[in-house]
Amino acid sequence: MCLRSSVKGLQMLGAEDKKRLVVVGGGIGGAFVAHSLQFVADVVLIDQKEYFEISWAGLRSMVEPSFAERSVINHTDYLPNARIVSSAAMSITDNEVFVSDGSSVPYDYLVVATGHEETVPKSKTERLSQYQAECEKIKAANTILIIGGGPTGVELAAEIAVDFPEKNLKLIHRGSRLMEFVGFKASQKALNWLTSKKVEVILQQSISMQSISEGVYRTSGGETIAADCHFMCTGKPIGSQWLKETVLTNSLDIHGRLMVDKHMRVRGFKNVFAVGDITDLQEIKQGYLAERHAHITSKNLKVLLMGGNERKLATYKLGSPLAIVSLGRKEGVAQLPFTTISGCIPGLIKSGDLFVGKTRKELGLAP
Ligand SMILES: Cc1cc2nc3c(=O)[nH]c(=O)nc-3n(C[C@H](O)[C@H](O)[C@H](O)COP(=O)(O)OP(=O)(O)OC[C@H]3O[C@@H](n4cnc5c(N)ncnc54)[C@H](O)[C@@H]3O)c2cc1C
Repeated sequence: MCLRSSVKGLQMLGAEDKKRLVVVGGGIGGAFVAHSLQFVADVVLIDQKEYFEISWAGLRSMVEPSFAERSVINHTDYLPNARIVSSAAMSITDNEVFVSDGSSVPYDYLVVATGHEETVPKSKTERLSQYQAECEKIKAANTILIIGGGPTGVELAAEIAVDFPEKNLKLIHRGSRLMEFVGFKASQKALNWLTSKKVEVILQQSISMQSISEGVYRTSGGETIAADCHFMCTGKPIGSQWLKETVLTNSLDIHGRLMVDKHMRVRGFKNVFAVGDITDLQEIKQGYLAERHAHITSKNLKVLLMGGNERKLATYKLGSPLAIVSLGRKEGVAQLPFTTISGCIPGLIKSGDLFVGKTRKELGLAP
């Protein structure tokens, strides 16, 4: 029997005959697994919020709140055939997931995709209002301090510098160079671009949040910075704290990442997979790679759901360190396998629509 006809056969099974697949985490990794398997298994997506958000489009939404109408997508829009549980997962046993609303969700197969911890509103409406409020905050300020020079801080500084060139912008970063996750050349190009837009970049210093009083921020170097408002753009913790006292505890590495095998299965388990930023794969943490993890995982789950032989499981090949950082609406910096480029070519690839139309199409929605 060929794979395609078997999948068709699975699609014809009644809900009661289908295996139960629970996906925890509705970021790009979890969303793509749930989307691709919603007709072949009895899928439940557990996410603490009601929507999937194209995370790298959020900084554009801070300067143009209407942008979020396309990049914040209710799970129900692309998952017509799955059940959504909008609560945080608290614990896992061998066969069920416990959720903060007091319920438990049984599973035959589980995918963990809780990337990074975040505190965001539960509903799309609240999320859109939050972007509106952040935009008002930017508009009302003369001097803005951005704390953190990773990709979030750099992309936010660039968005504000392009859309509000009259603002006085300062970016402070603890490290010796911006965006340590990419190579030296890419971070230098981003620094040069920001400096050319009159963003003041202060490296190797941090801000203690306790030290802020009436618009005055004290740096670790003993200097003071006056600003009307600030945005925290420091890294978020890995979303695995909730796994520490569960059956998966021994599958976490010292950084709190889930160790996976070459088929994306969590080490020590035959029916538990992990995708996205939470995995211990030795590659940069990017959404397009989370999408590739989701693709291999979905393929392997289809084999297992059909009772296929383990030898048929596909193997994941590590991605190369490709990254594009947008610099406003038309420019960017791209780290490619053999070179680094900046300017309008990376801008053309990413910065206009920020892959929003592409991602929506992949989820079966109008771009
Ligand atoms: C500024 C910036 C720009 C970027 N640009 C790009 C880019 O251009 N291209 C690219 O490919 N990547 C980019 N990335 C990286 C990309 O955003 C991440 O790699 C990607 O979002 C990881 O996806 P994920 O599904 O693993 O996790 P996440 O996106 O972190 O999603 C995790 C999900 O799990 C949920 N969750 C967490 N804990 C729980 C729990 N206990 N119970 C229930 N739900 C839970 C969260 O609510 C969230 O929905 C960028 C990142 C940043 C910060």
